Amino acid sequence: MALKLPPVKSSPDLPAKATVAIIGGGIVGISAALALAERGISVVVLEKGQVGAEQSSRNLGWIRKTLRDPSDIPLALAADQLWSQMAQRTGVDVGYRQNGIMFVSDADKDMEMYSSWFKAASELSPESRLITPDEIDQLAPGCERKWKGGLYTPTDGYAEPTLATSALANAAIDKGAVIVENCAVRDLAMTGGRVSGVVTEKGEVAAEHVILASALWSRRFLGNRGISYPTLPMICYVFRTAPIEGPQGPSEIAVAGPNFSFRKHQDGGYVITHRAALGSPITLDHLLIGLRYLKTLKHAAGMIRLLIGKPFIEDLKLARRWKATDISPFEKVRTMDPPADEAINSEALDNIIKAWPQFANATIEESWAGMIDITPDNNPVFGAVDKIPGLTLATGLSGHGFGTGPAAGQLAADLATGADPIVDPSPYRFDRL
Ligand SMILES: Cc1cc2nc3c(=O)[nH]c(=O)nc-3n(C[C@H](O)[C@H](O)[C@H](O)COP(=O)(O)OP(=O)(O)OC[C@H]3O[C@@H](n4cnc5c(N)ncnc54)[C@H](O)[C@@H]3O)c2cc1C
Repeated sequence: MALKLPPVKSSPDLPAKATVAIIGGGIVGISAALALAERGISVVVLEKGQVGAEQSSRNLGWIRKTLRDPSDIPLALAADQLWSQMAQRTGVDVGYRQNGIMFVSDADKDMEMYSSWFKAASELSPESRLITPDEIDQLAPGCERKWKGGLYTPTDGYAEPTLATSALANAAIDKGAVIVENCAVRDLAMTGGRVSGVVTEKGEVAAEHVILASALWSRRFLGNRGISYPTLPMICYVFRTAPIEGPQGPSEIAVAGPNFSFRKHQDGGYVITHRAALGSPITLDHLLIGLRYLKTLKHAAGMIRLLIGKPFIEDLKLARRWKATDISPFEKVRTMDPPADEAINSEALDNIIKAWPQFANATIEESWAGMIDITPDNNPVFGAVDKIPGLTLATGLSGHGFGTGPAAGQLAADLATGADPIVDPSPYRFDRL
């Protein structure tokens, strides 16, 4: 189900040229556009469907350093700064609250994982700490499940995904960016071996630099240019409850348990997911690059629910090679909208009720799903592609890019235009994959 999003003042017309053209109007592409517009650089965003309608509006809204790969924490810290300025920068309260996030578990293997992350990351994220069952009870009282302990970062938080990307987009437009919705980019325009713009379904836009922020679709887009960029899809199921009183701790903390997570929604309900049930739609790509995911599979094996048959056929129907004059796969799927899974959702709610019985009166108001693009090492890619001068990748956010999105977009803008990067981009190089 597509979520209702505030309208964006998108342009009906395609500009003939811009200094930077951005492919994809998710939080990454839109944040890049805002950063560029604020610097007075002309920029156009081309979005095949509606701004924010794929992952950027469907996510849980968590903004965290906790359990992030240490190499990705500087970007998360830079993003925290940007989130704290978001209301002022966009003129919209997007629900950003630094209410803290805690992960809790009753399994020894999770305790080991928490403490090894803590050892590796505590200098980078100094507020993060290991906590006892008593502290868990103080932070989210009333729990009846016996936890062994947890990992807590008080400066983590959340915001409303249905508000953030549209707010950033309208701020970018106010500062001079042009955003064109329902406008798929079919291919790059090349002159003398260098990118000279983009070819869209509505015509060509000349550009000195192009940023590819097309998430789930980047593998197909680059594949058409002969570049093998590895990502596999994964589906996460989410629902929102009607307003209820949850655990009454000192803050409305977000909590992740082994088989659920919850965080307070701005309207008083909760946004919930089943952390131990992810859909894995099996496609041709699993045969082509699946072996590169053995490490991820080992970690996530018990969580994966294989989706066999229909996703394989639907994926096969979409072209892997096409010409710029052809209708592209991006026009055939304006918005990736996987069906919600009510069985998984009610399992998640049952799991929460067993832990915090306060949720027993919760009713599901809205449910949806979102498809995530996962790289083999679970980290994104920001930077150049040797074979295509003038193209900057900003993609592969691997299920944790809403929180870092504002900084990720700024990093892409920096790298595309040769400005000082907001963080060291070296962990994100494409050639590491
Ligand atoms: C259910 C779910 C829960 C999640 N929870 C969290 C969370 O709690 N915290 C967190 O940090 N992250 C979370 N994530 C991940 C987060 O949502 C993503 O990492 C982030 O939104 C990625 O932003 P993006 O701009 O790269 O991608 P997207 O938002 O997917 O945007 C890419 C855009 O590019 C467009 N596009 C693609 N190809 C073309 C083309 N050729 N021409 C024009 N347009 C094109 C698409 O239509 C799309 O709008 C979650 C994701 C999901 C699905």
